[in-house]
Amino acid sequence: MRFTGLVWFLVTALSAAAAAATLTYEATVGGETREITVSSLDVDGVQYFPLRVVASKLGGGCQVVGGRAQVDLVSQTAWIGINDTAVDGSVSRFALSRPIVRQGDEVLMAVKDLFSFFRQAFHIQFTSKGTTPAAPADPPKAAEPILPAGDTEPATGSAGGVVRPISVVIIDPGHGGANTGTENDRGYKEKDLTLAIAKQLKKALEQSQSFKVLLTRDSDIEVPLRDRVNFATKNKGDLYLSLHAGASLSTSVSGLALFIPARGEAAAAEGRAAASSPQLQQDYSGPSLRIATEAAASLGAATSAPVLGVRPLRTRVMRGLAMPSVLIEVGCLTNADEGAQLQTEAYQAKIAAGLAEAVLRFAAPPAGGVS
Ligand SMILES: [Zn+2]
Repeated sequence: MRFTGLVWFLVTALSAAAAAATLTYEATVGGETREITVSSLDVDGVQYFPLRVVASKLGGGCQVVGGRAQVDLVSQTAWIGINDTAVDGSVSRFALSRPIVRQGDEVLMAVKDLFSFFRQAFHIQFTSKGTTPAAPADPPKAAEPILPAGDTEPATGSAGGVVRPISVVIIDPGHGGANTGTENDRGYKEKDLTLAIAKQLKKALEQSQSFKVLLTRDSDIEVPLRDRVNFATKNKGDLYLSLHAGASLSTSVSGLALFIPARGEAAAAEGRAAASSPQLQQDYSGPSLRIATEAAASLGAATSAPVLGVRPLRTRVMRGLAMPSVLIEVGCLTNADEGAQLQTEAYQAKIAAGLAEAVLRFAAPPAGGVS
């Protein structure tokens, strides 16, 4: 009995210590490395970390809105239902291993979800620098460069060039059905905005009589990301335009943002099978950058909205596409002025016209070619 009592005492001492564990991480955000120290909490034997504290230490924010946690970082947003595992990000959807928990103003996420959450939702890589005294559930992983230097440089050999004539344009209106995407304070939803612009863009491109234009959805239905990519492949798309809207906790943020697939995306996602197949998107990084740059210029001119830039992004939205592709955040729905404009048909028409112009310029023979 004395022996059992001693064991029980030791176990109690260990869980008390675990409740006060200090976790230290290194995270690279926008090329800048930050060291983050947080205290984890033990709830029913599971180690959690305070999501709000970590998000703010990374320069972002987290708040609970209508039963969901909204995490805002590096101009991306992720939503997670309280007591839920499903993460609905601006550009990615995935599941956590454990539901998040609300505790007063704070939101708790399991420590074992920390690495994958920030990597998948915000492309932020965490490296564990130590835990005192309890170990995190996940062992530290080898640092994987998210935005390797030179990632935005066009691939040699296809620098800026069109790899093949553009005859089939695939337009992907983001979200749909139960997956509403982000929304403004008047309840206007990203899924409705992207579909409205997609339909106008289709019309504008068809007027040029140069392209066959297909939409991955033409009604308010939920289409899995993989099905969208498969649709583009099956229909022999030559160009993929995925339409989204941005959101930010900071209501002063507005503007357009463009994203091209990060180099090596396909191999990273699909494992060895894709790695051994011909480069997939690697061959298209040059053309993807070119269409994104054309779109940034013509959209900026058409809308007068600030252009927040063209960046490589690891996202399932464009994963596995063997064609030039770009994800366009057409504006920030959470900005009062821009959100109101985005809701109007006239502004949507400006975006569609700007994008159509970019596609026409992209598809045109290069200077010095056939005139
Ligand atoms: Zn979106």
